[in-house]
Amino acid sequence: MEYIKNYINGQLIEPLDKKYLDNFNPATGKVYSYIPDSDENDVDKAYQAAKAAFPAWSSLSKNKRSDYLIRIAQLIEQNLDRLALAESIDNGKPLKLAKTVDIPRAAANFHFYGTGILHYAAPTHSMEDTAINYTLRQAVGVAGCISPWNLPLYLFSWKIAPALAAGCTVVAKPSEVTPMTAFLLSEICIEAGLPAGVLNIVHGLGGKVGNAIVSHRDIPLISFTGGTVTGKQIASIAAPMFKKLSLELGGKNPNIIFADCDYDKMLATTIHSSFSNQGQICLCGSRIFIERPLYEKFKKDFIEKTKQLKVGNPLDDATKVGAIVSKPHQEKILSYVELAKQEGGKVLCGGEAVKLDGDFKEGYYIAPTIIEGLAYNCRTNQEEIFGPVVTITPFDTEEEALMMANSTMYGLASVVWTEHLTRAHRMANQIHAGIVWINCWLLRDLRTPFGGVKASGVGREGGFEAFDFFTEPKNVCIKLS
Ligand code: NDP
Repeated sequence: MEYIKNYINGQLIEPLDKKYLDNFNPATGKVYSYIPDSDENDVDKAYQAAKAAFPAWSSLSKNKRSDYLIRIAQLIEQNLDRLALAESIDNGKPLKLAKTVDIPRAAANFHFYGTGILHYAAPTHSMEDTAINYTLRQAVGVAGCISPWNLPLYLFSWKIAPALAAGCTVVAKPSEVTPMTAFLLSEICIEAGLPAGVLNIVHGLGGKVGNAIVSHRDIPLISFTGGTVTGKQIASIAAPMFKKLSLELGGKNPNIIFADCDYDKMLATTIHSSFSNQGQICLCGSRIFIERPLYEKFKKDFIEKTKQLKVGNPLDDATKVGAIVSKPHQEKILSYVELAKQEGGKVLCGGEAVKLDGDFKEGYYIAPTIIEGLAYNCRTNQEEIFGPVVTITPFDTEEEALMMANSTMYGLASVVWTEHLTRAHRMANQIHAGIVWINCWLLRDLRTPFGGVKASGVGREGGFEAFDFFTEPKNVCIKLS
């Protein structure tokens, strides 16, 4: 069985304590590799390497940094099949999804930021005849990057690529639940000739490795994507140390459907926005609000289409819903279905674990689940479930839809389906969320600001905003006479 290694100072090495954790294949429920159970000493070793690499990397020309990133993007593309297979086995997601979304997007992240840095410019401010100010944007230093398990390489690279392009060196931790593609990325970085210490990947538990990165005295900025509770804990440590913080956290996204929508497009997309990646995408719409005249028709068709989704072996091309990432997460999702029933919800389809045969009989599967009859403000409709579970609720007026949509502590993403142009704008203006998709879902332009409001996060990723985060602006003022 494979032993994953840490990537520190350009080398693949064992954790200092030589301790390992089990890595499970969620499709089978069996251990299939081992993950370093690293601790603060491994993190400090990684930090020392990153610190030593920083002066040369940050002063390398943008063109040269760009070349490295584009080389990494190319190697990801060349290794697409291998990386997609690894992602599917590690996470339980359908192989097809990993091949068409996760891995291409990881390559795109390196490509986008590798080229983006060449166009990143800072302003000047002229004081007529008196002085001129220019702004230097300087890489902050060693960046700490921590990412979750739902889109492993996709989100890991979404942080690392802008950090490296901006001139930071990095100490990064992927989720201990899905470490494999980060490990393969370290092999790719070695092949790409990335200088030693520029990127360091330390594997292990959030409470040990993640915490050691966040509380490390000399790591001045933390880019974190994960749950809101973890984000709060990280902020409580990092804020008093005056670290720069970017927090991309949980969501409970509303999907608002008006009766005048393009019905077929809406229905097909709503299936994706509900159940893609087993509903484990922070942008999935988990609360679906339907204008009353359309409610019964939508309910019938949505249930019918949901029942057609094949739950099964993630490596099988016909599978639409793969395995839930871990047993504890499967249990958490099912506990929310029980809660929904206690709160008076009616399970219209799904609602239980799916038992497969043979090699997959110990895997963690849940049938895509639709629940109706719940109050908008009950716990099921307020707390993040992060699984293939959605609720459906009718509404009568725009005001009511908005009130329910905005009623949670979250504000990450939202979807509005309507052919009424001015209503679309009105809704977009009033929804409390970092993203409003009108008549689409998960359509992403990497130049746009990405992030949430309220308990969904602080700060924005994407485009030049990411470079703003990984650099510090310095005002230089020159008196002209
Ligand atoms: P967690 O918050 O549990 O973990 C995220 C990362 O933080 C993991 O690498 C984890 O390590 C690490 N971690 C855990 N505890 C600590 C700690 N005390 N200090 C530092 N690091 C720590 O989230 P999940 O991995 O369960 O991911 C799911 C969550 O992520 C959902 O809430 C989802 O909405 C959110 N998410 C948000 C996105 C966004 O862009 N806003 C995008 C994708 C997901 P380990 O796994 O080893 O414990």
